[in-house]
Amino acid sequence: RFSYYGMRALLLLFMTAPVASGGLGFDAAQGGAIYALYTSMVYMMTLPGGWIADRFIGQRRAVLYGGILIASGHFSMAVPTLATFYLGLFLIVIGTGLLKGNVSVIVGALYSPEDKRRDAGFSIFYMGINMGAFFSPLVCGYLGQRVNWHLGFAAAGVGMLFGLIQYVAGSRYLGEVCSKPAPAGSPEEAATLRRRALTIGGVLVAAVMLFGVATLSGALPVTATQVADAAGYFLLFLTVGFFGWLFSSSGWTREERHRLYAIGALFLAAGIFWSVFEQAGSTLNLFADRNTRTELLGMPFPSSWFQSQNSLFLWMLAPVFAWLWIRLGSANREPSSPAKFAIGLVFVGLGFAILIPPAQLAQQGVQVSPMWLTMTYVLHTVGELCLSPVGLSAMTKLAPARIAGLVMGIWFLATSVGNYIAGRVSGFYESFPLPSLFMAVTVFGIAAGLVMFALTPPIKRLM
Ligand code: GLN
Repeated sequence: RFSYYGMRALLLLFMTAPVASGGLGFDAAQGGAIYALYTSMVYMMTLPGGWIADRFIGQRRAVLYGGILIASGHFSMAVPTLATFYLGLFLIVIGTGLLKGNVSVIVGALYSPEDKRRDAGFSIFYMGINMGAFFSPLVCGYLGQRVNWHLGFAAAGVGMLFGLIQYVAGSRYLGEVCSKPAPAGSPEEAATLRRRALTIGGVLVAAVMLFGVATLSGALPVTATQVADAAGYFLLFLTVGFFGWLFSSSGWTREERHRLYAIGALFLAAGIFWSVFEQAGSTLNLFADRNTRTELLGMPFPSSWFQSQNSLFLWMLAPVFAWLWIRLGSANREPSSPAKFAIGLVFVGLGFAILIPPAQLAQQGVQVSPMWLTMTYVLHTVGELCLSPVGLSAMTKLAPARIAGLVMGIWFLATSVGNYIAGRVSGFYESFPLPSLFMAVTVFGIAAGLVMFALTPPIKRLM
């Protein structure tokens, strides 16, 4: 997460920075399109990544290989050419596909299903995520924006390298957990499947590389925006096809079917939530860089440092929420999971509502106070704490056991769709009046939250 968020803090700023200052000189529409493509594919790839771990190599090795690919990707971005930039993004997408979902599965596998410490284990894990995410924009952001963009990318790779060393050195504490794939079929069948998967995977990787070479060399006249458009249709097709298949399959009991509908509703809500929340790295990053005063008590700081605030507030607020839920729970007044989703959506919408007045000032050329974005990140973190951990555990509880892994994949698919929209929205930064843009995002989040409140009783019945 140090590497992921450190690089992401720089990504859009680097793409939209003028060539004279070492950036790529893209406009917001093109930068936003690539940001959308990259971040959505990162999370989408957890679906094949989970499948590869389950079937062929086990989660432990998947995380190791994923980490190596990610580190290579960051180092590739440290080389200042356009080709190595795209190659780096591609490697990180594949690597994170192998790492991100599977590392959560390992955490889950450390506890038996009855173990009461399971949720606490996930909380510690989530705080670990945010420890990396807190420090990395400070380090990579400073190096990238103040010294050299590519040094920032290299620092992300160094972080990943430390993570890998730590993972290998500490692997004895994990015992045998997740070190073997789940056995499926006879050894012959498994070997055939492995061969087929290797062939298909190899062909796909070769095709993408070929496509990259052809477009970069100008032989194939395709723009990044067109590729991102295609990815959007692909995600839509994948989501509709997936839920269509899920709902139309026979063989579910009545109860399972109802729970699948509940999963569908939570998926939609989560997708909308992340589409607003994940604008941290896109729209809000641009707002910090272009329209916010980046100094505190007379001390200037790089605009990417705002990216650390979410994690900082997460560390501060996670214990408060743990206490709150326990307290409300003991009085039998803890909100249900769909109600918490609704609260999360309202908060993430409010985070944008608060930016409408400063956006009006920004339009008149004022550099606004950093306190505005800070308030946004407080509201967004509150929303995240209502939705993200709750969603993860709701998914694992609602999933019919035989598709538990797949349902974990659905959760990341929601993140993928959300990131896609978050990136594309930032593409309007230069072509849409900022107050109207923020107003639209606000209405989207809050309206979804109100719909979710209204739907809470029927979703609870389905669950
Ligand atoms: N910040 C969390 C993480 O990195 C959640 C991200 C997400 O699922 N959108 O794991």
